[in-house]
Amino acid sequence: MKYDVLNPATEQVVRTIELASEQDADAAIARAAKAFETWRNVNPADRGRLLRRFADAVDADLENLAALEVENAGHTIGNARWEAGNVRDVLTYYAAAPERLFGRQIPVAGGINVTFQEPLGVVGVIVPWNFPMPIAGWGFAPALAAGNTVVLKPAELTPLTAIRLGELALEAGLPEGVLEVVPGRGTVVGQRFVTHPAVRKIVFTGSTTVGKQIMAGCADQVKRVTLELGGKSANVVFADADLEKAAAQAPYGVFDNAGQDCCARSRILVERTAYDRFMELLEPAVKNFKVGDPGDPATEMGPLISAGQREQVASYVDNPAFQGTAPSGPGFWFPPTVLAPASDRALREEIFGPVVAVVPFEDEADALRIANDSEYGLSGSIWTRDVGRAIRVGRGVEAGNLSINSNSSVRYSTPFGGYKQSGLGRELGPDALAAFTETKNIFISTED
Ligand code: NAP
Ligand code: MG
Repeated sequence: MKYDVLNPATEQVVRTIELASEQDADAAIARAAKAFETWRNVNPADRGRLLRRFADAVDADLENLAALEVENAGHTIGNARWEAGNVRDVLTYYAAAPERLFGRQIPVAGGINVTFQEPLGVVGVIVPWNFPMPIAGWGFAPALAAGNTVVLKPAELTPLTAIRLGELALEAGLPEGVLEVVPGRGTVVGQRFVTHPAVRKIVFTGSTTVGKQIMAGCADQVKRVTLELGGKSANVVFADADLEKAAAQAPYGVFDNAGQDCCARSRILVERTAYDRFMELLEPAVKNFKVGDPGDPATEMGPLISAGQREQVASYVDNPAFQGTAPSGPGFWFPPTVLAPASDRALREEIFGPVVAVVPFEDEADALRIANDSEYGLSGSIWTRDVGRAIRVGRGVEAGNLSINSNSSVRYSTPFGGYKQSGLGRELGPDALAAFTETKNIFISTED
């Protein structure tokens, strides 16, 4: 079946690709299962070397990958370069892992006891359209480092960089079948990853609704699963914070990638005594946010991914407090938007667009109550000059990734993932390989 990939900034067709059928998915899984038999036995130094070569190939192709993402996903060129660089860096980071995949020697009576971290087999990575490159890399890099092979399904809307990464893997010398990119429908290819018995683990990033279906599907084979799902993160601003800085940076914490970010700080909670001042500072920051041609290095925000997404986002906006600007004409544009007050629906549901709700709070306890009044728990920020309060509130917010006096959540060397319905398990950081291995225990008798 053919699929027209669109440029969301122009609505023009970028390329027509062939979507994989269920039979195609089965064939890719079979190739990955066959490749596993050799890949798992590649000696650790060589596996690391191949991953570093893959990282080098990504680096050499960085401008091309970034341009593809600008065209296919409407990402700003600055973001797209960072995203391709992130794939390179994640590969480099995990290239060191094969030689450091330690087991343990545990003291026991009558012999020696050692543990081994063994690969699972074929890992299915299912990727959403909002960050096609980094999310793919967070799955495949540690999976491959641990000795697994990977079948990767990009989102239907954004397959182009994943297809290119698959080519780069082969050019770098990864054997055929080690990283199989399978563009296709979620309900066909993604679903097949879940039901196929040779796929031993699913790494899914996407909506909470689909994530629950995946988890239920995996139960049938007790298939391992990591889920990275939605968010409704709070940016908590106390009156003692550097209000100028907090307000100037708040738009970047939610409008980056046009708000299509699971870590978007889509609720700004402001201590009531600082509320009016904060809003005075926020308004010009929002109105001056540069929305337009994603290929222009000065642009801070591009279009939404699709007409459907724009319609969905618009359904939350009624009588905004203020809005920025966006181009008219072709493209799925939506202006940065501030809701104050916001409807209960806008406060609870993940909007996944450039829409933020601002809510006043009374004191620390009230801030925590509002921040935690969500089924999600992915990220969040706390702005205060009081170190004790920063730590208290940071420990009190039910979320996996918090930042103090900053809105950044993601570093490849630190763990990433959600509390509550934002997900299950952690990606990235020093422990990611644990999620791609089984622990095997072996006892060796020393008895005569
Ligand atoms: P989605 O509909 O859940 O899709 C995510 C991926 O799953 C896509 O590749 C999709 O394929 C596939 N899929 C859909 N139905 C499936 C099924 N029944 N079985 C197996 N795979 C299936 O999410 P999206 O619309 O791409 O992305 C937006 C949502 O993802 C937002 O809610 C956002 O919060 C969440 N998200 C979370 C994170 C995180 O790290 N926590 C990151 C990014 C996005 P198709 O493209 O063919 O539908
Ligand atoms: Mg979807």
